[in-house]
This record gives sequence, C-alpha cells and structure tokens, in this order.
Amino acid sequence: MGLSEFALIERYFRGVGAQRADVTLGVGDDAAVLRVPPGSELVVATDTLVAGVHFPQDSPADSIGHRALAVNLSDLAAMGARPAWALLALTLPEADEAWLGEFARGLGELAHTHEVALVGGDTTRGPLCITVQLLGYLPSGAALNRGGARAGDVLFVSGTCGDAAAGLAIEQRRLTGPAEARNWLRERFLWPTPRVALGEQLRGFASACIDVSDGLLADAGKLASASHLGAELAWSDVPLSEPLTTLLGERRARELALSGGDDYELCFAVPADNIARLFAQLPAQQWHYTRIGALRATPGTVVVRDGSVMEFSHSGYEHFV
Ligand code: ADP
Ligand code: MG
Repeated sequence: MGLSEFALIERYFRGVGAQRADVTLGVGDDAAVLRVPPGSELVVATDTLVAGVHFPQDSPADSIGHRALAVNLSDLAAMGARPAWALLALTLPEADEAWLGEFARGLGELAHTHEVALVGGDTTRGPLCITVQLLGYLPSGAALNRGGARAGDVLFVSGTCGDAAAGLAIEQRRLTGPAEARNWLRERFLWPTPRVALGEQLRGFASACIDVSDGLLADAGKLASASHLGAELAWSDVPLSEPLTTLLGERRARELALSGGDDYELCFAVPADNIARLFAQLPAQQWHYTRIGALRATPGTVVVRDGSVMEFSHSGYEHFV
C-alpha cells in the first residue's frame, strides 16, 4: 500500500466514533482495554460484509461503512443491549484514500449516533471485505433472546419490510419505477436504520426478539423454532411502505416484505399480559411497530389470508430477474 499501514490507521481510524470514558486503551496498542459497568453482562456480535456478495462492489464507500456497523448494531438491538465498542477488521485491495475517507466517515457518523467508540481492528490487503465486531452490555440476566416466547404471545415487527430488497434490486438495475420511490427504497438498502433504542426499551416487555436480516418469514420462523413453537402471520397485517407498493403493487410488495432480506427491523414477541403496558409506554405510532401475528404450539410458520393458509413461495426476490 502506498500509505503505510500505520499511517492509514492513524489517519482514518484513530478517534473514529464516540470518545468514551470507559475505554482505558483504544486504537494503537496490542489490544483494547475496556471497563464493563458493574452488574452488566457483555454482549458481543460480529458480521462480515463481502464485496459483490453483501453489497454491490461500487456502492458508495460511506454507505459501506454505515452498513458494516449497522448490521452489528441491529444484532445488539435484537438482544436489548446497549452498544459501546467496535473493532474493525478491514481487507482492502489498495489504500484508496478517497474511498477510505468516505468509508470512515460513514462508519464514524453512525458510531457517533449510538455513542460507539472504535477501539481497534486489523488491516490487511486482499479483496474488499469488512468485518465489524461490536460489543455492548445490558443488566445481568436481561438479554432478549430468540427462545423465550410462549404460545399465544403476540408477534410484532418494527418499521416496514421488503424495502431493502427492493432497494438492492434497484441498485442492480433489476427493478425500476418513479424516481422518488426508487431513491427512497435505495436509501433503505444503503443506509439501514438499526432499531437500537427500541431494542433496549423492549427489555421490559418482549419475551423474545430477532432482527430481520434474512426476510420476515424466515426470521419470524427462527424466533418461533428457537422458542419450540410455530408462528402464524396475517398476510394483510405485514407493514408495507408507500414507495414499495407504488413500485410493485400490493400483492408483490407483500410477497417481498415476507421474503426479502436486509431490512434490519426487529421482530419480537410480547405476552398478552404485557400488551396494554407496551401500548401505553411505547406507543406504536411513535415507535413504529405493527402487530403481524402470534406464536402457537403447532410447529412451522404460516401466512394466513382471508382465513386460509397461503402457499407461499420464496420467489418474490426472483421476480425482478
Ligand atoms: P498488531 O500487529 O498488534 O496486530 P496492527 O498494526 O494490526 O497491530 O494494529 C495496530 C493498532 O491499530 C492496534 O491497536 C489495532 O487494534 C489498530 N487497528 C488496526 N487496524 C485497524 C482498523 N482498521 N480500525 C481500527 N483500528 C485498527
Ligand atoms: Mg494486526
């Protein structure tokens, strides 16, 4: 690399994100030293983005930085954890300084938003690949896992679904439509909003939670099976954005909302006894979540439309090819 690895790290990655008082040692030593608040458990997740696999090679560099952190923030949100520290393992084909500046800015801005400090990482040469490890914490014993739901718990999802899958299809020129709708959906893919505050708030209400990265149907199914249950989703309750229905029409929009990935919304179960308190303390209009179904003892995930179980194929995505 033209730029030495040391200079690259100093220039682009030291001081990225929030400055936190609980970082005893950050970027620059052999390892980071962090102080976890007493009475807490450490919550850790890591996710890799490979160019050409998880994002188009020519995506804007700032959006790649944003997404690399966002996907991990979403995992911590799904646990109900508060994010705090990140590590960045970066594999780069070359030290392109314009690219690095934009990448670090995209990652840094989202890190600031969530008070996350970049405390270390690794830099190597090779095909573009980004791994972020994110550490956070929560009160001991308070984690929201996938497996805590009971039959009869109500299932909710935050935001709207299918937007990011449509945005990726637009990015790849497999889908077109009015410019305003296209731009909005494209942004939903390039700049996902991890539901960190909602995840933390749900600690007092939800019995189980998962983030929607592989598609609502698949991820609701994972929550259900981790809880040794099945799930019943109501076709007409799946939340859709206006731009998605504008581009695809209602039926295809709902298919994509059930099958498409990369939304990074939260899907969570709430026991019937907690529902009134949930609605009172986290108003649905303010926190943007929708009831989509319920958990049941019968295994398997089904979508019900007008009282009958739908045959659902996972072909929504391929519709654009
Ligand atoms: P080592 O030889 O100990 O692996 P490195 O030269 O890889 O050291 O890294 C030097 C310091 O810079 C370490 O503190 C490491 O955590 C940090 N670092 C390396 N790459 C990155 C990166 N991409 N982002 C943030 N910190 C990094
Ligand atoms: Mg190293």
